Amino acid sequence: MSKITFAIGGVHPDDAKLSRGCAIEVLPLPQTLYVSMAQHLGAPAKPIVAVGDKVKTGQVIAEPGGFISAFVHSPASGTVKSIGPRKDLAGNNVMHVEIAVEGDEWVEGVDLSDTLVTEIPEDRAAILDKIKACGVVGLGGATFPTHVKLNPAPGSKAECLILNGAECEPYLTSDFRIMLERTKEIVVGAAIMQKVLGGCRTVIGIEENKPEAIAAMKKAVGELPYDIEVLPLKKKYPQGGEKQLIQAVMHREVGSGGLPISVGAVVQNVATSLAVYEAVQKNKPLITNTLTITGNCLPVEKQHNYLFRIGMPLSYIAEYAGGVPEGAAKLISGGPMMGRAIANLDAATVKGSSSILYLSEESTKRGQESFCIRCGRCADACPMGLEPFLLNRLYKAGDVAALEANAAQDCIECGCCLYSCPAYIPLLDNVRQAKGMALGAIRARAAAAKAAAEAAKAAADKNNKN
Ligand code: SF4
Ligand code: SF4
Repeated sequence: MSKITFAIGGVHPDDAKLSRGCAIEVLPLPQTLYVSMAQHLGAPAKPIVAVGDKVKTGQVIAEPGGFISAFVHSPASGTVKSIGPRKDLAGNNVMHVEIAVEGDEWVEGVDLSDTLVTEIPEDRAAILDKIKACGVVGLGGATFPTHVKLNPAPGSKAECLILNGAECEPYLTSDFRIMLERTKEIVVGAAIMQKVLGGCRTVIGIEENKPEAIAAMKKAVGELPYDIEVLPLKKKYPQGGEKQLIQAVMHREVGSGGLPISVGAVVQNVATSLAVYEAVQKNKPLITNTLTITGNCLPVEKQHNYLFRIGMPLSYIAEYAGGVPEGAAKLISGGPMMGRAIANLDAATVKGSSSILYLSEESTKRGQESFCIRCGRCADACPMGLEPFLLNRLYKAGDVAALEANAAQDCIECGCCLYSCPAYIPLLDNVRQAKGMALGAIRARAAAAKAAAEAAKAAADKNNKN
């Protein structure tokens, strides 16, 4: 058994990988796709098509709206039917491009064959350009534009690229399936990123509850001409957290508010590695990803792993899979620990969609909330070394300064505290709010400092001119 894991906290929920045996199936195209302009971290993309335009599969339909942003491509060929706000998963209005699907005619220059391309281009800048042009974003949850993450600021150096194959959230199996079915492509993607980062140590970390994936990856790494390690990790949630992976693999701590690159680390999900491969070696934009349909109220034959196109309504996928099962009390996008309740099943899939999870009433029933008994279990479980009971109290008191002083901004929203609390206090909801308050204060201060510096510079410039 692997002993490699993060140092503090963590919990051991049942992994419930009910769909692990389900090979990836390709979803057919629906009649209409709704492509969100906000499917990445940063500024929303800006549409460059107009109503009535004909588009092809893979054609750029929106450009980045800022430095931290990403291109968006058409997931099918057809006609742009409308451009306007539409409700996302959480029920918020977000700009979407609606496409009436007429076929699947791809733009020129995309290699749709299965041929594995192992020779990596030499030009680092050209690789980054290709990743950017193909709209690749992190598919482990954060959807941070990949070309930005792979291009550390001057003075920062990547010492280790960690590929996250932990998939530590219960139920989810899409990463597991791509590690089995697209193994070599993922390894080539890792080698491309290794090259971009200057040839640093590269490790694929996989939780040991996926022995088939570990074996497949080791075999692929052995057969391909790159210097990459496969590292089995202890099964412990949240092993796939960025900071937890860095601690497990590099024995380094990312400080409060710091980025992984501050300790020489770059973390990318295995699905991102596959997207990098497709972008660089196949010129294929990111319009597909894999999603798990699972849950404890679904019979085995109705569990699936699907290759979806962005823009497919979740309701279309749910219907295709047999409909929302009777007894589903809660629908979640993501895993049961960190996922978000689906407020709108008509929301469209985005690049980072990972699941539709149906949970039964029995499994979602929580006891009556009572008073904190100061047992300390939430603090013991917190992988960030926080004191969730204290953050909960400070949040209720609205004490933003104390929340910041107690590092609420460092919460990774893993849910270990909620999972551990015998008093059924909604710790995750409350620490999420607390984190938002602390981050809001930090950002407001930074914006004020920037404005003051700009005003001082403008005044100095004016004086110099006079
Ligand atoms: S949700 Fe936040 S406070 Fe709770 S255990 Fe995770 S990191 Fe700690
Ligand atoms: S686990 Fe719950 S009851 Fe125990 S200290 Fe934390 S908040 Fe209080």
